[in-house]
Amino acid sequence: MTARVSQLTDIKGIGPRLAEQLQALNIFNLTDWFFHLPFRYEDRSRITPIGGLQPMRPAVIQGEVRAASVVFGKRRSLLVKLQDHSGTVSLRFYHFSAAQKQQFSTGNIIRCYGEPRRGASGLELYHPEYQLLEEGLDAPLEALLTPVYPATDGISQQRLRILHEQSLTLLRQQQVDLNDLLPADWLQQWQLPTLEQALLFLHQPPADTQLSTLEDGKHPAQKRLILEELLAHQLSLHRLRAQVQAHQAPALADEQSLKQQLLAQLPFTPTGAQQRVVSEIAGDLSKPYPMLRLVQGDVGSGKTLVAALAACQALAAGYQVALMAPTEILAEQHLHNLSGWFEPLGIACGWLAGKVKGKARQQALTDIANGAVRLVVGTHALFQDDVEFENLGLVIVDEQHRFGVHQRLSLREKGRQQGLSPHQLIMTATPIPRTLAMSAYADLDTSVIDELPPGRSPITTVAISDQRRDEVIGRVDGACREGRQAYWVCTLIEESEALQCQAAENTAEELREALPHLRIGLVHGRMKPAEKANLMAAFKAHELDLLVATTVIEVGVDVPNASLMIIENPERLGLAQLHQLRGRVGRGAAKSHCVLLYKAPLSLTSKQRLQVMRDSQDGFYIAEQDLQIRGPGELLGTRQTGLQMLRIADLQRDGDLLPQVRTMAEQIWQHHPEAVEPLIRRWLGDAERFASV
Ligand code: ADP
Ligand code: MG
Repeated sequence: MTARVSQLTDIKGIGPRLAEQLQALNIFNLTDWFFHLPFRYEDRSRITPIGGLQPMRPAVIQGEVRAASVVFGKRRSLLVKLQDHSGTVSLRFYHFSAAQKQQFSTGNIIRCYGEPRRGASGLELYHPEYQLLEEGLDAPLEALLTPVYPATDGISQQRLRILHEQSLTLLRQQQVDLNDLLPADWLQQWQLPTLEQALLFLHQPPADTQLSTLEDGKHPAQKRLILEELLAHQLSLHRLRAQVQAHQAPALADEQSLKQQLLAQLPFTPTGAQQRVVSEIAGDLSKPYPMLRLVQGDVGSGKTLVAALAACQALAAGYQVALMAPTEILAEQHLHNLSGWFEPLGIACGWLAGKVKGKARQQALTDIANGAVRLVVGTHALFQDDVEFENLGLVIVDEQHRFGVHQRLSLREKGRQQGLSPHQLIMTATPIPRTLAMSAYADLDTSVIDELPPGRSPITTVAISDQRRDEVIGRVDGACREGRQAYWVCTLIEESEALQCQAAENTAEELREALPHLRIGLVHGRMKPAEKANLMAAFKAHELDLLVATTVIEVGVDVPNASLMIIENPERLGLAQLHQLRGRVGRGAAKSHCVLLYKAPLSLTSKQRLQVMRDSQDGFYIAEQDLQIRGPGELLGTRQTGLQMLRIADLQRDGDLLPQVRTMAEQIWQHHPEAVEPLIRRWLGDAERFASV
């Protein structure tokens, strides 16, 4: 009777030294070892007739050597002609010994495995693995597909295979402590193999398995593990949410009078979508535990008003509100809007950003701490250690995609007073494709503002090569002469703000020369906040015709008379960012245009992406396309949800499983709570350690 295997070094052949080497493959324990799956397979289980070989499809062939000769092309090589009943193919070796050459004597029978490619003599196999078959002997073929494992220096494929084979035998004999964490009744319900079955299969698929099914990640054994991994992620977010909501928050009565006063000042009424989202928020705020709500609304959908109405509910109940934006320019814009709405109602607004220093900062901190200020707007400076609130009831975060889970958690810590945590409202203008939202934001409730205020005009978007730059400059001239305003956006050249600003300065100079009669302003990230604010104010007041800018204007800027935007080198930006930028126009009644002034020639991907921008103005559609073209990592930005660290699942490929994962997560949470921690530990062990603040 063999002893039970419960740690890595219990596997025969894995000693302390190898165990240490395996860490390079992210294998730290027994579970990691069994989940170290092949990343592809080779089919060495049958012989393919030479006549049936196809380019790029690796295969085993067997035939008789008809000729072998050293040929002198660009490089000297040994060319061997192999023939079976169905055809001939060439094997080519650039490195070969005399002994090898000897093996290819005419008439010898050779079996080899390799990938056929088109070469000088038709299909050729370069450096195939081969063996010389002794006359009359029938060498056995593999009975299983051959796994190819992620390997590392000093541990060969062969060694990994042998070790895995041994450990799988133990698994088969039930000698291994590896629990199936999914409830047994599920396997039937969802038609999934057990963990053991899935692992055995994926390490050693029978020869008749469809390779393409495995390659596409569609085999039930794969699906079982993919589901489990996504489930673990989902559960970790559930847990995060549960942790937050285990705290108490002030239950804020849904008092209407302040909201009414605010609305009475506005020249418009909220859209149906805004009203719906505001009432969803109002419901959350009236609960005695923290709201965790994400509001998604396309550019220009009116999120600021929704935030303001949410703020009313906290302010009316005597609590402070903090609104945080990712950039100073956006925060300033918010301060401008919100103080314009709230100061007349007798609500003091305050400001705190990284650049507020010395006395001004001291004063701001005092006002926030003693409650003289009720609504504080700022950047993440709002959440530094020395900032203390009198009684923070609601935190609003704008443009959430730039903040990570960590920051979200620290907000909660920040506002906690007298045992109460603040409510959290998160707003994002980057629409997140539904599939991603379901997994990346499972810790949040979501609301969508799916309607734009009336009177917006569609934006016509064109892509023009910068060889026609003069024409575009002429267009700017025309628009400005008609009393419209325009933006000229210079995009990032490298990850250097200095270079970006330089580019904007050069462009402004160029445009001033070309269009001397226009009033042209320049705004970039290295200007002082006051300077930027003055410029933006001048543009808004139509004291400037044309604003040359870096992408600092990406978010929040609102000038309805601006109806033309030129974006230089749009191919450098993500679609979401382009969509954000473009959203600065089309805010008034005039017909708006956006010119994507690209540098030719464009790559195929760039062409596709600019085409998406021309085709659509729907942020959600654009985000879906972005997801397809660039993958989820880019869309999620620097968020550390651990979703970028998926081991087996692939959000793009497996997105269709997410609804099922969601249902499973809820079931586990309710009926099998004991499985939650082990699942999270199995799949997110490292990421979790990393994310806990
Ligand atoms: P975003 O969702 O991009 O943050 P904003 O809150 O900046 O959008 O709103 C964009 C513009 O639309 C602002 O000028 C705002 O005053 C205006 N707005 C907001 N809601 C409405 C509405 N219901 N009707 C008309 N205009 C509105
Ligand atoms: Mg906004």
